[in-house]
Amino acid sequence: MGKRWWWVALVLALCPFWTSQAGAGLVRLVPGQGSYDLGAMADVLEDVPGRLRLDDVLAGGSAASAFSSHTGRLSSFGFTRSTFWFRVEIDNPAPAPSDMLLVLRTPWLDSVRWFRPDGQGGYVERLLGDHLPFKARSYATPQFLIDVPVLPGKHSYYLRLASAGAFMTPIELWSRQAFHDNDRLWAAYYGMFYGILCIMVLYNGCIWASTRDRSYFVYCLYLAVFFLMNFSYNGFAFQYFWPESPRWSNWSQTHWIFAFQGLAVLFTMNFLESKTRLPRMHRVLQAFLVVLVGSWIAVTVSGDIVAYHAVPIYFIFGCAPLILAAGFLALRPGYRAARFFVLAFVASITGSFFTALTVSGLIPYTFANFHASEFGLLADMVLLSQALADRVKLLSEQRDAAELREIEQKIATTALLKQANEDLERMVLERTSELARARDEAEHFARIDMLTGVANRRYFEEVATMEFARTQRGQQALSVILIDIDLFKQVNDRYGHAAGDAVIRAVARLAKESVRESDFVARIGGEEFSVLLPGIGQAPAFATAERLRERIAACVVEHDGHSLGFTASFGVSEQVADDPGFSSLLRRADQALYAAKQAGRNQVVVQALEWG
Ligand code: GH3
Ligand code: MG
Ligand code: MG
Repeated sequence: MGKRWWWVALVLALCPFWTSQAGAGLVRLVPGQGSYDLGAMADVLEDVPGRLRLDDVLAGGSAASAFSSHTGRLSSFGFTRSTFWFRVEIDNPAPAPSDMLLVLRTPWLDSVRWFRPDGQGGYVERLLGDHLPFKARSYATPQFLIDVPVLPGKHSYYLRLASAGAFMTPIELWSRQAFHDNDRLWAAYYGMFYGILCIMVLYNGCIWASTRDRSYFVYCLYLAVFFLMNFSYNGFAFQYFWPESPRWSNWSQTHWIFAFQGLAVLFTMNFLESKTRLPRMHRVLQAFLVVLVGSWIAVTVSGDIVAYHAVPIYFIFGCAPLILAAGFLALRPGYRAARFFVLAFVASITGSFFTALTVSGLIPYTFANFHASEFGLLADMVLLSQALADRVKLLSEQRDAAELREIEQKIATTALLKQANEDLERMVLERTSELARARDEAEHFARIDMLTGVANRRYFEEVATMEFARTQRGQQALSVILIDIDLFKQVNDRYGHAAGDAVIRAVARLAKESVRESDFVARIGGEEFSVLLPGIGQAPAFATAERLRERIAACVVEHDGHSLGFTASFGVSEQVADDPGFSSLLRRADQALYAAKQAGRNQVVVQALEWG
């Protein structure tokens, strides 16, 4: 709200013609009044061929009688080849001439001729116009300023204007002081406006340099060309850029307006991504661009000065609604980035639309109408900052989402990897323990006799070799008992092989039960067993064998209805210091066993060392 009031205040300050003076054709100078709108008071004569001279006009006659009262606030005739004469009567009640300034604010007028009475019945002429170099002006301002000493009393003043550009200009009379004060306000306004514009060109240029987003480049160009166009039609370009080149100053204006519209359309296509989002509108915009550029070339080569100035202005009436339509079409499907940008662009192009209407004489000249393109562009730039912020926000949102997705993915991948690792570890462990079990089993079965569950011959030899080395090192005793079941063949023959097996199992069980935990029982042949007794000498070994012999002899195995009784013979030997290995010990036990068999079986024989 505050901002809007500020604008209204500025417009009022810049536009001191809200109260129009009464009395058509006659302007009365009033002490203390700073400015007068001569345009509103003047009588006008249109000179189509442009051949009338001051004398013809003064002489009256048919030409002079064609003067008609002009009631508009300013003189606005659109694009015309005609020359116009303005006649205004100024009444100065002061006794001496008043120093006033005639001000024509349209800087593109080709030829300005001002005729003031010299006080002796004659007229003094002052010639100005944008066809003359800038330095021909007595005041270095973009507007045309002419010193007017207003004579006391009533006098008629004449102004002859010709322009190939839009015929539209306020004709004002100012007191010097009032003009000076007002002009400072204008200078501030233009300073602010062009300052903002230049910053925005740089700003967008920087954004383009860092983002490489093509729409910023086009927008930057668009702003730069707007600057040139505006600087040019406000007369500053002629004053500051090319003061020696009135011809270029006149002609360049057309090119800026064409370029401005071309860039506006290009920018629209770029920003709205019309090629993919609005394919039909895209073709229309392309066609418009082609016609625009075609007309640009055509009017440039045609040399028709009025068409040259008018055509680019008329194009705005097509360009503005077209861009407006494209903007709304893009908004409809919810293209978020379009919101502020379309609003901004629409503000700017609508402003240009109103300025074009004013310049063409289709709507009355007012400060707001004529400067609408500037206000539009200011709104555009404010909204553009919003659009930029929005876009940056959108981009960072997208980036955040992408980062989050990446992190989530990483977490998922890590979890998956961890799981896989754990699975693998577990599998390896399982497999390892399975293998170990299998190996243990294999080892067990390789060492254990399947029929009796005691150690087999291979295992017995392993253990016996180890024990032999250990006891020899430790100078401990080691004895071995060999057992052979007596007349076993007969058991097999009489009762069958299974009965024989039962007897073998019974002997193994009795042997296990009859020895210490540290003694080692093994089945070393069909019905032959051996017991290893570490730390035991031959006497206690004999006792053990004897005890076992008795238990075997007392044992009865029930099999298949038969009670089987049986006996066994025993050979015992003890390790001696010069035994080279376990086999010598075993051989002596075998000899003892043989002796037991020879001696009639069912007895224990201890080795006879002296035999070895
Ligand atoms: P001796 O008193 O002289 O030892 O007479 P013996 O009949 O026991 O003679 P020997 O020791 O030579 O006999 C061994 C027999 O043991 C031969 C074989 O048929 C039998 N035998 C060997 N292994 C097994 C077995 O695993 N089960 C059964 N049932 N018989 C077996
Ligand atoms: Mg035998
Ligand atoms: Mg036997």
